[in-house]
Amino acid sequence: MMHDVAIVGGGIAGLSLSIDMKKRGYKVTIIEKGTYPRHKVCGEYISMESHGYLQKICPTISSLDLPMINNFKLTTGSNKEFKTTLDLGGFGISRYLLEELLFKEAKKQGVEFMLNTKAQDINFDFNKNIYTIKTNSRNINSFLVCNSTGRKSNLKTARMKNIGTNYVGVKYHIKMKRKPNLIEIHNFQGGYCGISNIEEGKSCICYIVNSKYLNKVNNSIPELENTFLFKNSNIEKIFTTAEFVFKEPITVSGINFLIKEPVTDDSFSLGDAAGSMAPIIGNGMSMALRSAFVLANNMDQYFSKEITKKQLVTHYTQFWNKEFSTRIKLSRYLQHLSEYSFLTNRAIELFNLFPSLAKGVIRQTHGNPF
Ligand SMILES: Cc1cc2nc3c(=O)[nH]c(=O)nc-3n(C[C@H](O)[C@H](O)[C@H](O)COP(=O)(O)OP(=O)(O)OC[C@H]3O[C@@H](n4cnc5c(N)ncnc54)[C@H](O)[C@@H]3O)c2cc1C
Repeated sequence: MMHDVAIVGGGIAGLSLSIDMKKRGYKVTIIEKGTYPRHKVCGEYISMESHGYLQKICPTISSLDLPMINNFKLTTGSNKEFKTTLDLGGFGISRYLLEELLFKEAKKQGVEFMLNTKAQDINFDFNKNIYTIKTNSRNINSFLVCNSTGRKSNLKTARMKNIGTNYVGVKYHIKMKRKPNLIEIHNFQGGYCGISNIEEGKSCICYIVNSKYLNKVNNSIPELENTFLFKNSNIEKIFTTAEFVFKEPITVSGINFLIKEPVTDDSFSLGDAAGSMAPIIGNGMSMALRSAFVLANNMDQYFSKEITKKQLVTHYTQFWNKEFSTRIKLSRYLQHLSEYSFLTNRAIELFNLFPSLAKGVIRQTHGNPF
């Protein structure tokens, strides 16, 4: 069976693109190696820039009572802190709920799913102008292919350059009394821990740490928390007073920030598969959503014969580089800075002296609403 668009990877990028394309009248299939719903390691803070788009593709989201977040606090272990309001701000929703809602919406719209199916290879037949995606069950044919397989893609469609350091991510859901409109980032040696509210009065704690600190404590998460995180009393207070919704944390290892390309062999990458933003700026999901939004527009123009395939490739590549290249570089720099408490202390001193500097950095790492 022939599809207009085959999307490999049904995370936030792939699911959003599938709904957008289906609503425009195209035949869409998603190949996803997992199933729904599921927990994922993530800070679960979404920048307001993509709120309108999410509501448009998945109207159920509008009916939820989600916490709106417009205050920010940064601290270090030496009791230094910086507070500011967020001009654009964001909202909180768990990945479990968000992907479940997007999946249900995609099914409602008629997107086809191949779940528990892993794509192994993508081939293009120049004579017939069609793609064939080889999977562990059957092959899929389509006119266009999108790769939204995330950071750790097995598909050799993107040129990658490893920049070295590997990070580990850890997430918990907790219940505790805190200001629902506040996102906090607490620095510790080797990383930082974020906390913000999500649905049903819960909060998400998520930290990211350079893997060498986990190695130092024999890969023990409780030991890591005791030895490094709790040096910041703000983190210790959260961990000792909160009620943990699930006892064991969700973890992910091998996080790095690879340099990739938005188009390879004429297949289109979006979300983390095209390049991942360091989570310190809390904008990876909006990058995934924005790339879905623009790619859907571009593919629609191609199918409607307003642009050629070559123009489709050029338009999307130009958009991607203009919109995200600088932000990804800046996010990597901030990620690196955040590993060192003395640098975070200096940053806090500067931000307290010149609050507009902090607002400028936040502005640089976010886009306009779409
Ligand atoms: C610790 C941490 C905290 C973060 N916090 C935030 C935050 O607070 N706010 C924010 O905006 N961003 C945050 N991010 C970034 C955000 O999580 C990502 O940018 C976002 O998940 C990207 O979505 P995606 O759809 O591109 O990829 P993913 O969500 O990774 O989805 C990829 C999908 O592809 C599937 N897949 C992979 N390979 C195959 C294959 N071969 N065949 C079939 N299916 C396949 C996977 O199963 C998965 O479902 C954080 C990231 C980390 C690591």
